[in-house]
Amino acid sequence: MPFPTSDKIWMDGELVDWDRATVHVLTPTLHYGYGVFEGIRAYPTDAGPAVFHLRAHLERLLQSAKIYPPLDTIPYTVDELCEVVCDLIRVNGHEGGCYIRPTIILGYGEIGLNPLPSKPQTIVATWEWGAYLGEDSAVNGVRVGISSYRRIGKNTIPPAGKANGQYLNSSLAKVEALRAGYDEAIMLSEDGYVAEGTGENLFVVRDGAVLTPPLADGPLGGITRASVMTIARDLDIDVHETSLVRTDLYLADEVFLTGTAAELTPVREVDGRVVGPRGPVTERIQSAFLDAIHGRNDRYADWLTVVD
Ligand code: PMP
Repeated sequence: MPFPTSDKIWMDGELVDWDRATVHVLTPTLHYGYGVFEGIRAYPTDAGPAVFHLRAHLERLLQSAKIYPPLDTIPYTVDELCEVVCDLIRVNGHEGGCYIRPTIILGYGEIGLNPLPSKPQTIVATWEWGAYLGEDSAVNGVRVGISSYRRIGKNTIPPAGKANGQYLNSSLAKVEALRAGYDEAIMLSEDGYVAEGTGENLFVVRDGAVLTPPLADGPLGGITRASVMTIARDLDIDVHETSLVRTDLYLADEVFLTGTAAELTPVREVDGRVVGPRGPVTERIQSAFLDAIHGRNDRYADWLTVVD
């Protein structure tokens, strides 16, 4: 499938044509992965396209940048970046919603491993993107396998950030899973606890309660994860952050994944053990989540930034 395109990409204040939005081949980010990024989605609502948790995502972008100096020296505030994203959605005319990819990279300048002399560049792209784990995945669920690759450790590459280079770890696990015939990989922490998918947080349903690994076990502090925990509690479902091992997935009543790209995707099989089809607790939470992102529940109205 060809990569979807849109009209313009924002690069440090300039709206550049999609095909002309280029960087130098010697930018250190290309060589060493030293950059940070976010993934955000906008959805169609009755009030027009609206971005889900825009501020929280851009705050996390700047937090990731703080881990990786000098990426934190960009001259933009969260408020300014919120404006940039909304303006770009308007310019690109994404009435039906879109995916938003802000990234802070190192500009061309130095090629050694010291990033400090390089000047960071801020880029925002948007495009229209369908279901990340397959068109029918939200209903029929996906098949996952436990990866032989461990999730990056706390003192290897900080899992709390979203650095470009750390996704080598995710992509190795993803390729392994796809080649084994699965849709997605589940990664364990270095000490063997369930961490997360390659780009999704993971939840288990057991005896009516919802369980998810604590951040100490290495998952990203997903914004969808936090939203889903709030939604579940609002539905009077017990939610616990607790360490899980692989058999907790095999023996779960239900398993699902959450993330900006994957939204809320049920899991129907883990390492060949059937845990699907989509169960009743997953379906209740998913339905409330879909209402929230499409602006159909006033309770969560402040999670959306309407792009007028
Ligand atoms: N884990 C990883 C490794 C991710 O890349 C993502 C996507 N950002 C998530 C979890 C889900 O996070 P969020 O809900 O904030 O998109």
